[in-house]
Amino acid sequence: MPDRLLGDIVPLSASSLDTWLRCRREFLASQLLGLPESDAGGSPDQGLLVHDLLRHIHQQGSCRDAEHVEGTLAAHGLNGSSALQGFVERHARRCPPDDAAGEHEVERARFHRRPAPMFMATGRIDAVWRHRGLLDARDYKTGQSFTERVADDPRARLQVWLLAPLARHEGLRLRLRYEFLSAEVLDDPEPFEPDDDDLAAIEEELRGVVEAMWGEQEFAGVADAALCGHCRYRSICPDSASPGVPAWPVPPEDG
Ligand SMILES: [Zn+2]
Repeated sequence: MPDRLLGDIVPLSASSLDTWLRCRREFLASQLLGLPESDAGGSPDQGLLVHDLLRHIHQQGSCRDAEHVEGTLAAHGLNGSSALQGFVERHARRCPPDDAAGEHEVERARFHRRPAPMFMATGRIDAVWRHRGLLDARDYKTGQSFTERVADDPRARLQVWLLAPLARHEGLRLRLRYEFLSAEVLDDPEPFEPDDDDLAAIEEELRGVVEAMWGEQEFAGVADAALCGHCRYRSICPDSASPGVPAWPVPPEDG
């Protein structure tokens, strides 16, 4: 039954991969069945705002130009927000030199045909800079850091695999850096500069994940109180370790 939920070419993104690795039940509900969320998740609002702001700032000028940053904040009705100013300042310390050419929200797709199963990976990279022979990709993070090396994060591994053909085509060295921009995180994790062996290993890992998706029959929930507490499907999950009150109307239980 569940294998009919997957098409011949399995779509793969950082978020679907992340969900799959976290909880197979959540993967079934969100990625395969596309169910509406039954519970509120964490609010991503501040993260989105910081991403938008940095994109606007870089499109019209430099993040190191205080007047320009202030003007951009004002244009968005956000002047006087010291929290947002703090995010921009902490980013500016990590930003490539002002003569680097940058693009934001770079969309990439890459297809894997053989060996089976086939998959189509897609993703959006926050910022890609070109300078000093480097394709310098950045992922802006506004939350906590959970990893010491970018290379250990499966989402980062997918991202570099997506970017690798672009770097090769342009004859640039590929590097992915996570910029942790909240005041609480003091150090960024070690950036990832994948070599050809890393990239071949990543493709095989992703293929293995898709193969496991094909073989999955149970889609059991992870039943971990910490993870379930943030799950957007916790109140409709039979395995949830942290049941919630559904936002959906539900029929009364028997007995
Ligand atoms: Zn910048």
